[in-house]
Amino acid sequence: MDLKQYVTTVENWPKEGISFKDITTIMDNGPAYKYATDEIVKYAKEVGAEIIVGPEARGFIIGCPVAYALEIGFAPVRKPGKLPREVISADYGLEYGTDTLTMHKDAVKPGQKVLICDDLLATGGTVEATVRLIEQLGGEVVGAAFIIELTELNGRNKINNIPIKTLIQY
Ligand code: IMP
Repeated sequence: MDLKQYVTTVENWPKEGISFKDITTIMDNGPAYKYATDEIVKYAKEVGAEIIVGPEARGFIIGCPVAYALEIGFAPVRKPGKLPREVISADYGLEYGTDTLTMHKDAVKPGQKVLICDDLLATGGTVEATVRLIEQLGGEVVGAAFIIELTELNGRNKINNIPIKTLIQY
């Protein structure tokens, strides 16, 4: 399936100069959403994932159906103040300032093989911080899977040692 035809590009959103890739038009199409999920499920099997980790909010949309299909768990990565129990945190740089991501302290078990899922790989800041969180918990990141990769931003260089699967490249 040519998944690219289901992505909608929204120019100048959320601000002037940004060309936003909207994946909701993959999700609202049953066969396209299933195809994208199945491709990542295949990859998750290849790398031997034992749990899926996804950053809010679109990482949930991609990661949860993959976890369901494999009958393995899903652990959320969230912005500060959203998770109710003890968390660990990782900061990462944005164009202006920094942001923080958190995970529950017991979300990933030591030695567990983790596949990170998200909708889009841009600068790699989100996934790099997610890798740090998982490794802090003793998990082993066996791969990272995305629907879309913006190749010009070289996000994959931020997680050099981790295998990456992307379904669509721009
Ligand atoms: P990065 O941290 O720069 O790699 O940005 C990736 C994160 O920002 C992901 O969690 C994406 O959901 C979000 N993101 C950045 N650009 C886009 C876009 O064009 N469409 C959808 N999500 C985006």
